[in-house]
Amino acid sequence: MSLLSVYQARERILSHFQPVTTETLPLAGCSKRVLAQDMAATSDLPPFNNSSMDGFAVRAADVAEAASDSPRSLRVVADIPAGSHPTFFLAAGEAARIMTGAPVPQGADAVVPVEDTNFDNRDAGVPAPEEVQIFTQARSGANVRSRGMDLHAGEIVLNKGRVLKPQDLGLLATLGFANVPVYRKPRIALFSSGDELLPVDAPLEEGKIRDSNSYTLAALIEEAGAEVSRLGVAKDDPDSVKALLEKAVELNVDLIISSAGVSVGAFDFVKQVIESNGRMDFWRVNMRPGKPLAFGEYKNIPFIGLPGNPVSSFVGFEVFVRPTLQQLGGSSSGGRETVRVKCEEQIDSDGRESYLRAQVYEGEGNFIARLTGHQGSGNLHSLVQANALLIIPAGVKCVPAGQEVSAWLI
Ligand code: AMP
Ligand code: MG
Repeated sequence: MSLLSVYQARERILSHFQPVTTETLPLAGCSKRVLAQDMAATSDLPPFNNSSMDGFAVRAADVAEAASDSPRSLRVVADIPAGSHPTFFLAAGEAARIMTGAPVPQGADAVVPVEDTNFDNRDAGVPAPEEVQIFTQARSGANVRSRGMDLHAGEIVLNKGRVLKPQDLGLLATLGFANVPVYRKPRIALFSSGDELLPVDAPLEEGKIRDSNSYTLAALIEEAGAEVSRLGVAKDDPDSVKALLEKAVELNVDLIISSAGVSVGAFDFVKQVIESNGRMDFWRVNMRPGKPLAFGEYKNIPFIGLPGNPVSSFVGFEVFVRPTLQQLGGSSSGGRETVRVKCEEQIDSDGRESYLRAQVYEGEGNFIARLTGHQGSGNLHSLVQANALLIIPAGVKCVPAGQEVSAWLI
């Protein structure tokens, strides 16, 4: 059993995965989906010169001398509501009432807001006046959003691999993309293993515990943008493990994830079952928690065996499975947010790359981290109390108080 660094183990795993196929979905269903193509602007934005205020479209030169004690009077020749399409040319001495978002007519180069005129009335249905007094000057371009000022037709606005955010959907809608190419969601089969595991609704029995990993891991998988099929719990016997693996094959998943049964000894029969129809590596990774890790293939479907301890399987997911799901799902982002944090107290480590549960809070000008209780890998409560995993690099045995380390916000 070889000892690998976290980096080596992750690289070995990732080298086996390619992005899944793509599909085209109606825009409304694309939130959090991964864009499968670069998207280019289909038009200039804004697509036409328009007003950013309710006011009067004018020629700036006409109001160059206007002031509150010497207003400039202009003849109102048109009323331009939003959605209309003015075709006239605004001549010298003329103004047109205009609403926010309405096209600025040719000839006009500025908009004077209603509050700088004697016609400060925005009530719907009030007809435009025949004449308006302008109380201020306006520079050319004032309150006009000009065509193409935000972006030009053909510019790439969203890159392939982006996890689409609500505002991205808005921009795609603005540009007329009713349907959007995205990667399909990776399909994952998940099972727990162990004779000690009870279902969540069972009363506790001597020597038994409830299966918690399948809940944590299924939620992590879904949160990472993949679909999960929960296959239940395998007993510690080859037939039971084999039956679940066969279910995963039937479901044609992209990846099988299991928890537990990867400690030495316990592992032997899992290895046997998998190797009867594939191959299996069993690694010790130089990390804490979560040293044992299994990686292989069953009937050509990749398999990752995470450790059984609840915190270890969580950390194993973050370190190995999340990046795998990202790669499978075509995503160029979506990992945990990483911040630099100052340690409140000295932290001792054992030289392995360590992922420690911590509470991170805002200090003066930086983040400060405090560990949440004892770091036993079965202590799920300390993970619940944490909002971050501190990453203590391999080789470090002591981080003095006040020193900075990286942390993933969880
Ligand atoms: P194992 O890897 O099978 O040696 O399991 C390591 C530890 O994790 C043992 O204490 C197990 O009882 C515990 N464990 C294994 N699977 C689960 C699970 N699904 N939920 C909660 N604890 C588990
Ligand atoms: Mg076990």
